[in-house]
Amino acid sequence: MDDIRLHFYNTLTRTLEPFESLEEGHARFYTCGPTVYNFSHIGNLRTFLFEDILRRTLKLFGWRVTQVMNLTDIDDKTIRSANEAGVSLREFTDRFIQAFFEDLDTLRIERAEHYPRATDYIPQMAELVKTLEEGGHTYRSGDSIYYRISTFPAYGKLSRIRLDKNLAGARVDSDEYEKEDARDFVLWKAAKENEPSWETEIGSGRPGWHLECSAMAMSLLGETFDIHTGGVDNIFPHHENEIAQSEGASGEPFARFWLHAEHLNVESEKMAKSKGNFFTLRELIERGHDPLVIRYLLMSVPYRQKLNFTFDGLHAAEQALERIANTLRRLEHTPDAIDQGAMSLADIKAFLRHFREGLADDLNTAKALAALHTVLRQVNTALDSGGLSAEIKQALFGAFKEADSVLGIFPETGTSSTGDDDEIQALVEERTEARKNKDFARSDAIRDELATRNIVIEDTPPGPVWRRQ
Ligand SMILES: [Zn+2]
Repeated sequence: MDDIRLHFYNTLTRTLEPFESLEEGHARFYTCGPTVYNFSHIGNLRTFLFEDILRRTLKLFGWRVTQVMNLTDIDDKTIRSANEAGVSLREFTDRFIQAFFEDLDTLRIERAEHYPRATDYIPQMAELVKTLEEGGHTYRSGDSIYYRISTFPAYGKLSRIRLDKNLAGARVDSDEYEKEDARDFVLWKAAKENEPSWETEIGSGRPGWHLECSAMAMSLLGETFDIHTGGVDNIFPHHENEIAQSEGASGEPFARFWLHAEHLNVESEKMAKSKGNFFTLRELIERGHDPLVIRYLLMSVPYRQKLNFTFDGLHAAEQALERIANTLRRLEHTPDAIDQGAMSLADIKAFLRHFREGLADDLNTAKALAALHTVLRQVNTALDSGGLSAEIKQALFGAFKEADSVLGIFPETGTSSTGDDDEIQALVEERTEARKNKDFARSDAIRDELATRNIVIEDTPPGPVWRRQ
């Protein structure tokens, strides 16, 4: 399957491009991370989940991955919230960084290789501003430092936004700072009372938000790296400003591929606290929703499509996961057939090919999941009609393991066992034994007991199989 090449839709070129890494066999990417002043909501997590699918897919296709995700632990919101809570900025943001990692684990989002905190990279940020100053890209207003957009002619190449010419040259009082041009943005904010600030060679103050991503990306990944990701709302101005800062300083291309995840709506409406449709992961779990069901729903729609998060959708995702678990359990517990059965190794190879082709097509998770459900239907049909050989079963489990290295949705332990599976299996075997010995009172009693636990036993030609209702 080496002929399947990974393709990504590059926002920079507006085309689907085959992916190649700059360093052979090593994919390096940067991900705009959370601002750590509250719990992650499902819109944020959709984007982080898309990045998880990206890193897992890169690994499936043979790349070693270095992913950097920043933690914004200083900006207006973190400062205000820490002041309100009456604790230091560090202490305040520590709590939400901890909570963020817990949420990632809950959703089985793999850890990135680096999680730089903005406040740990102040010297690198000051250095970057100094380089931009020396290159004539900045001006000072008060004690703050601004980027002069007119010095970077490529500005706008990512967003393709044509800014109103009339704005240029107008003095707009925005952000409480004086700018020469409304498009200009702050690199370094002058120290203010009741705000943390750092003494640096460019003066006393704190970094602007855009600056931190450029400084940390280039510190950890170099001037040019493979992929930069984020949500569509990051494209302008955040990513445009990152490009202006990074390329303005280095003279080299910044990221080669730009990938952006679309918005998430809830019940067809934009998520907003005022509408009562704003959900953090924690709230959904408190309402009794399984994290894996949430993971399944969030990734079932390809990342460049808007995702409509609904409670009906959660229910459908729950049923889809239940079908997967039931089929795996059936496959595991059905005795091996002597002949091959109704599936061949070629069928399994075809599944893996379709699965990879889906992901290779700009991480089309809907296609990959469709391939999975198709093969699961084949498995059920084969088990209905005489079972499968040990060889085919083993090949299937290998293929499922490969698929789940990207999807991350299969039941926790082994291939399909959840907590009480072993106990149920033991009862099913005891029932088989009782029937053999014509002890029907015992076998019926076991069947009834299992029924109260919502377990159904089906007697199939190769032997009994059970599933949850
Ligand atoms: Zn960023």
